Amino acid sequence: MTKIGLEIHCQLTKLKSKLFCSCKANYREFEPNHNICPVCMGLPGSLPRLNQKAVESATRIAMALSCETPEKIAFFRKNYFYPDLPKNFQITQLNVYGDTSIGGEGYVNVEDKKIKIRRIQLEEDPGRIIYEGASERTKITLIDYNRAGTPLVEIVTDPDFESPRQVRVFLNILSDLLENLGVAEPGLEGAMRADGNVSIEGGKKVEIKNIGSFHDLEKALHFEITRQQSLFERDIEIVQETRHWDDKRKITVSSRSKEKDQDYRYFLENDIPWIKLDQGMLDGLKKNMPESISSKKERYVEKYDIASQVAEIIASDKYYSNLFENAYSDSNAKDIANLITTDVIGFIDTKEKQQNSKITSRHLSELIDAINSKTITRNSAKVALQEIMKSGKGTREVLEELDLGQVSDSSEIENIISQIFEEEKQAVIDAKERPETVNFLVGKVMQKTKGKADPVKTLELIKSKLLS
Ligand SMILES: [Zn+2]
Repeated sequence: MTKIGLEIHCQLTKLKSKLFCSCKANYREFEPNHNICPVCMGLPGSLPRLNQKAVESATRIAMALSCETPEKIAFFRKNYFYPDLPKNFQITQLNVYGDTSIGGEGYVNVEDKKIKIRRIQLEEDPGRIIYEGASERTKITLIDYNRAGTPLVEIVTDPDFESPRQVRVFLNILSDLLENLGVAEPGLEGAMRADGNVSIEGGKKVEIKNIGSFHDLEKALHFEITRQQSLFERDIEIVQETRHWDDKRKITVSSRSKEKDQDYRYFLENDIPWIKLDQGMLDGLKKNMPESISSKKERYVEKYDIASQVAEIIASDKYYSNLFENAYSDSNAKDIANLITTDVIGFIDTKEKQQNSKITSRHLSELIDAINSKTITRNSAKVALQEIMKSGKGTREVLEELDLGQVSDSSEIENIISQIFEEEKQAVIDAKERPETVNFLVGKVMQKTKGKADPVKTLELIKSKLLS
């Protein structure tokens, strides 16, 4: 049986400052090496000071993943040399003197399977290494320390996954959960990275390091399972090792033999005292936890009779659920939900578009009012949404500017129908013989009125004209 376990690194991008100093957590806005200080550069004599908010955010993650929280947390030095690590050690957590990491023993339900969360730890991100130029033989390597010391949460699962597909479903659930908690923006480049370890029956564990996209992780896991199966079938030993994903060749490549914990010479970080997690703080965090995605979904289905799939789509995405939550009333919730999942999603399907969109909840409720009072057609609402998304203008202004008012006047529609009957003689004969083809004629009227004709009235009038 295939066994897959994950280590997911997630940046706490919503925090203001780094984990142990007051440099900005949002390093992305700076020129290289302009977001640094003696602490995150590891200069002699500097002392780390733990960011209380980072402890709180990490604890919220632990709570949302149904983890136990320890009485006290401790930090450790993980020693290794690497150019992006100016201190020559990373401050992280480890459970050697009992459970002193920020959380443990949690779980996430993925479809019918319970994926156990073994441990959650708070640690600092290293800097970034940039290889100048596209060539693999480039001699120039640049180091940007702006990221060094950024707060990171590492989430370690048990090897409970049986397929790469299950991993992808889990990562989608996790990234929605982190976003819903308001602690991270998993869509940002580099904000969520994962290591996967894979073993097949009878083989040793192989780790694939540091993959930045879920899509690539799934491909890498697929590749690795096939590689191991093929070795196994040929009676070649599968060695325990670390491999990396070569994005260009779409294969995993052996990178180094796996270090064991003792190679890192972990020891207690004595510059940071053991910290007792205050019960008052824990109670406060628990009380202020945002509503979970599953409870939101349940509420949408039960209270507003929204289809389960529609409720799922809205509840799991923070942008859509915010739009929905601020737009609906008891009477129009279902309509708003459908407008979001049929039209809004079509235009705003990426995080980037979500950020740039100027659609507000008010626009949505006004458009639904206009549809329900027959001022505009459903089709026109779609056209209006596209314009509003770009300009952010008021609903009424957009409807007037684009002349989207619904045509409900019977004589006006009858005139257009007469023209269509002249132009589409064969379709009229067809519709008389086979009533199910009548929609073609309705479509023509819609085309001519740019989607503004009242569709119900149009159908009625066409039917009566066909009988006459
Ligand atoms: Zn700093």
